[in-house]
Amino acid sequence: MSHRDSHDVVVVGAGASGLAAATLLHAAGRDTACLEARDRIGGRLLSAAASDPGRSLDLGATWFWSGEERVRDLAARGGVTTFDQHLAGDTLLQDTTGVRRLAGNLLDAPARRFTTGSRSLASALAAALPAGTVRLNSPVTAIHPDGREGLAVRTPDGVLRAEHVVLALPPALAVECIGFGDALPADLVRLARSTPVWMGAVVKVVAQYPSAFWRERGLAGAAFSRTGPLQEVHDMSGPAGRPAALFGFAHARTVRPGFDQAVRAQLAQLFGPAAATPDALYVQDWSAERWTSPSSVQRLDDHSLLGHRLYQRPALHGRLHWASTETATEHAGHIEGALASGERAALAVLAASSTASEPGTGAISAAT
Ligand SMILES: Cc1cc2nc3c(=O)[nH]c(=O)nc-3n(C[C@H](O)[C@H](O)[C@H](O)COP(=O)(O)OP(=O)(O)OC[C@H]3O[C@@H](n4cnc5c(N)ncnc54)[C@H](O)[C@@H]3O)c2cc1C
Repeated sequence: MSHRDSHDVVVVGAGASGLAAATLLHAAGRDTACLEARDRIGGRLLSAAASDPGRSLDLGATWFWSGEERVRDLAARGGVTTFDQHLAGDTLLQDTTGVRRLAGNLLDAPARRFTTGSRSLASALAAALPAGTVRLNSPVTAIHPDGREGLAVRTPDGVLRAEHVVLALPPALAVECIGFGDALPADLVRLARSTPVWMGAVVKVVAQYPSAFWRERGLAGAAFSRTGPLQEVHDMSGPAGRPAALFGFAHARTVRPGFDQAVRAQLAQLFGPAAATPDALYVQDWSAERWTSPSSVQRLDDHSLLGHRLYQRPALHGRLHWASTETATEHAGHIEGALASGERAALAVLAASSTASEPGTGAISAAT
């Protein structure tokens, strides 16, 4: 890592919020580096390739809803085609007495999906950044004030210097995996430690089939279960039913040896014997993802902390800005909230650096 490693802004995390912040900052002429711990971009936007060419199966976020205009606009701008969630058909209810069929779809709300998977949104954002802006395999391990120069950001490869840093990862993870010394105020650290990670304690199971056979029986692919392991199931097929897939959520604490078998048995009980033998079964345990969930993730449940006012103002003398969907004041938890939080953080950086550029303030000017 060279001495040139000095930037106007370092964004920590290349999920939806970090990429949204980085693209806005870059478009406004700020020299921006985006450091990503994983070997991929997208964070909780994760899609596996389906056997149908050009189609994907979402292992993280799946839907967006009416009123989520940032997501809608990003998809349109990025050429990511969208389609309606399949809704038609009856719902199944599973309890200890067996499975009952309820008329109509009582589980799914109207929503839209991304034909090539939600990860395409991350690719659409990253495409607007110059090569080299996003650095993969670059986990940030420490952030410290660096005299009057700004902040020092440490990774295993060395130290970067920045006037501003955007923390675009779940706050509870940030305070667990990044050392701040005693630079952060105690109330902020307490808040961050207690803020839930959206869907961080969830296992998403996706089962891909040769066809959406449940639709032929008038079923929506929607099921509630009081027995588990999956608590709810949805149709996750692509446009015109290709690829054909169901997905479900389970609490991470219910994952035990034999979980896959228990899921297959449950799907067969709900949808018939063909459901026991999917072509592919993905089990994505988000609680075990070290770059999503802190060790405390299963205990964090106070959702009133999402979008807390302390996240709306920068820390470390106006240089450390919070992003991530957990910090959004609207649509917190959703992709829309992640994009909004990245936008808010970028605007705060721009506002601070334009004030600092005013002559006579004696402050450090942004290197534009
Ligand atoms: C199973 C599941 C289903 C979901 N379904 C939906 C849905 O249908 N609709 C919807 O709108 N939302 C849904 N969500 C939520 C949605 O995925 C998130 O709101 C959004 O993707 C969060 O983006 P983010 O940038 O805030 O955080 P993240 O996506 O978590 O991004 C944080 C990034 O920071 C990186 N990182 C972490 N630590 C470090 C470090 N120390 N140094 C550098 N980088 C680091 C991570 O690798 C990651 O790339 C779902 C989430 C899950 C898990």
